[in-house]
Amino acid sequence: MDWNNMVLIIGEEEEDRLSTATRELLNLGKRIATNTGNALGLVLLGKNISPIAQQGFEYGADRIFSADSPVFNPYLADIFLDSLVPEIQTHGPALILLPHSDRGMDLAPRLAFRLETKLVTDCEDIRINKQNGSLTFIKPVFGGKTLGNFRLQDHKPQIVTMREGAVDSAPSAPGRKGEVETLNTSGQNIKARVRFIRKEVDKSLVRVNRLKTANLVIGAGRGVKSPEGVTLVEQVAELLDGAVAASRPVVDSDWLPYSLQIGLTGKKVHPRTYIAVGISGAVQHMAGCLKSGKIVAINSDESAPIFRMSHYGIVGDCRAVLNGFLDEFRKTAPAPG
Ligand code: FAD
Repeated sequence: MDWNNMVLIIGEEEEDRLSTATRELLNLGKRIATNTGNALGLVLLGKNISPIAQQGFEYGADRIFSADSPVFNPYLADIFLDSLVPEIQTHGPALILLPHSDRGMDLAPRLAFRLETKLVTDCEDIRINKQNGSLTFIKPVFGGKTLGNFRLQDHKPQIVTMREGAVDSAPSAPGRKGEVETLNTSGQNIKARVRFIRKEVDKSLVRVNRLKTANLVIGAGRGVKSPEGVTLVEQVAELLDGAVAASRPVVDSDWLPYSLQIGLTGKKVHPRTYIAVGISGAVQHMAGCLKSGKIVAINSDESAPIFRMSHYGIVGDCRAVLNGFLDEFRKTAPAPG
């Protein structure tokens, strides 16, 4: 295993665990590291980060580096950069992967500038040439109309941000353990040019975050016809503890926020079940939900393409189907109290 040319993930935490995006990067990073004969490293900076860092072994990391200090929370670019750059220069990774998150988008270009290297942002996949180990980075271009292939020849390290949901999470191997190495930085003496004042949580993000965790996602399409149709979808989602998503015409009509759009230019989801309500099955939409465990389609047109991609289909007016479902559910559900 080549430690000098390792694949290094700059990870993130969420609610006392490695973030979903970080676990996805560990899966992708492992594939690249294995195919290129290199090690997979994970670095985490944060407050009380040590127990979370240990989880990286369970998800395939060969080496984990962490720095545990309150100065890393909240994230400030200067403190992260000044802490990471010397460490990266010491370890000499060949590839650095970051989530295409708010933090990743902020940090990756600054890192590339400081390390005098190049980066590709918002990738969906990385292809490996097994003969010479070169990497091709794949990302949507021209507003998602097509995919572009990018190569960063003769640059080390290569830096990439990956879109969340584009690859599966790394499988967990409980019991796989190792020693987390402490970085030579506490971040304490670094002067940040930006000061943190306060954090305000945008409540609409709660719905967006539900898309990542819900077992059931219900997508509303143009066939729901109106905001009232969307309300019906929301009622069913609430009853089934599901999350609500949308196709592009629905967000273009302002019936739901753009942040809930599923597809090529929207979010990628892979719940256990995806119910497509009044959605035709355009490739640009399906690109965001095809990895769902089971797809159920409700559509009035029996020749709609969605039926060729779904496991179960209901042909009918979606409002009648959803109302019928709500009536039945209310009849059979136990009365409150
Ligand atoms: P439609 O294609 O209009 O389908 C509506 C469906 O509802 C039809 O199948 C119809 O039979 C059915 N229907 C009508 N009435 C009823 C009823 N009463 N009951 C039940 N069913 C009914 N789209 C996305 O969603 N996400 C993206 O990220 C995305 N990115 C794009 C990127 C590019 C570059 C381009 C060019 C397009 C993109 N699109 C995207 C748009 C995409 O091509 C489709 O136009 C869009 O997905 C169609 O949405 P829809 O299925 O809701 O609407």
